[in-house]
Amino acid sequence: MTEPLCKRCGEPAVILSRKEHFCSRCFCKFISSKQRKQMMSDPYFQDIFKVMHQDKVRSAEQADAQNSSSRILAPLSLGSSSTVMLDVLNDTLNEQKSTQRGRTGFYVDVLLCYLESEFQDLKNRVEELSAARYRDNQENIKFHFINLESFFDGQEFEKLIINDDYLCSSKLDSDPYNLKDLLEQCPNRSSREDLLTFIIRRLVKRYAYQHNHKAILWGHSMTKLADETMSLVVKGRGEHINSLFDSSQLDQDYSGKFRHLYPLKDVLLSEVDAYCYSAGLDKHLVNYTAQDTLLLQKRCETKASGKLIKNMTINEMVRKYFDDIEGDYSNVISTVVRTADKLAEPKLIEPNVKCSLCQGNIHTRGSEWLQSITINNGCPPETQEDKQLYEKWYESNLRRERDEYLELMKSVSSQGEDAPLCYGCVVTLGGVKNKCVTWPQSTDRELNQTLEEFVLADEED
Ligand SMILES: [Zn+2]
Ligand SMILES: [Zn+2]
Repeated sequence: MTEPLCKRCGEPAVILSRKEHFCSRCFCKFISSKQRKQMMSDPYFQDIFKVMHQDKVRSAEQADAQNSSSRILAPLSLGSSSTVMLDVLNDTLNEQKSTQRGRTGFYVDVLLCYLESEFQDLKNRVEELSAARYRDNQENIKFHFINLESFFDGQEFEKLIINDDYLCSSKLDSDPYNLKDLLEQCPNRSSREDLLTFIIRRLVKRYAYQHNHKAILWGHSMTKLADETMSLVVKGRGEHINSLFDSSQLDQDYSGKFRHLYPLKDVLLSEVDAYCYSAGLDKHLVNYTAQDTLLLQKRCETKASGKLIKNMTINEMVRKYFDDIEGDYSNVISTVVRTADKLAEPKLIEPNVKCSLCQGNIHTRGSEWLQSITINNGCPPETQEDKQLYEKWYESNLRRERDEYLELMKSVSSQGEDAPLCYGCVVTLGGVKNKCVTWPQSTDRELNQTLEEFVLADEED
């Protein structure tokens, strides 16, 4: 049997992707070119990433000013996609330095959002990564850390609660509140995951707003975008697909200061993972083992995920589905992403009604619709069996929870007012204890409250 050779350079091949054999170097180049194509996909992003020189329209000073004001924000989870995205950004900077006489076109602020208990470990891991790979670009790539807890720091709160008629009320709540309290209130893992996602997204955007970034680069691979899309549909959040993935417009919720970009949207997760092995990034990943499906020589033991389907969140279930089909049916994945790209935003019922929880635009009155298909009137127990079941319930924790909820409802409805909530968030709140969360109000004060951060210091040798 002949050894397969890289089709591009003739070296021995190590990867098989899209029916083509690659050596490590050519494969990394191939993935990198896909990302860079997105980074040059329209004039707005070209202005950010290109190295500007003195020319007919700008003086040397103006060119310098434009280069140094081209700042982008790259959230990093140290999963495979965001880590690969950062690596390609670093390569782009290296290439600019060598071809443009030491000049570069842009600056990257890497942002890590952490839970208090993870901080030390995360910081060590980032120091290792930075020392191993990004030392030459310390001027252009800086690492910042934000505690997820800061989402609640110094905020004005409201209590969001669903009552029997599926109307939502809110009231000011001055109790000190924190992330631990919030997560303890989420027995349902999907709801917990949703709320954490909102928190991270809002912190990242606020950070970009406060530091004048021109774009937020999200690491999502094509596979991740497909499973986000399907999960949003399943969770009743289909109306928000367009606004979440749109990279053609400035984010108007943040004064039009930045755009969002998904530079790895043409790259499958298995390809991102193969890049990790090819580039030696696999040892830097946190809480994630890169798949070796495309490697000719397998690396890791086949991992049985061991998680039962019924314990999975909706996102995990959809991810499993796409993992299973990625090998033979990867065209399904690109079809989902291309379709999501084409979705326009639905008509607004009235302008500028935002969901109090996820900040998405509201297009349907989800609560009214639910109300119209739901019967909330109770009926008394009749048979002996009914009565036994009732007594059992009466003695149980469920009844105590119900009493707590009624108590809460009473206090909120007497002082509260209606709060807009999208359909998806009505469902999310249904998975939270007492169908109630304490949540920061989105106000200018929230937006402008400076986020406290930890910055990884430049290393000196
Ligand atoms: Zn090659
Ligand atoms: Zn919502």
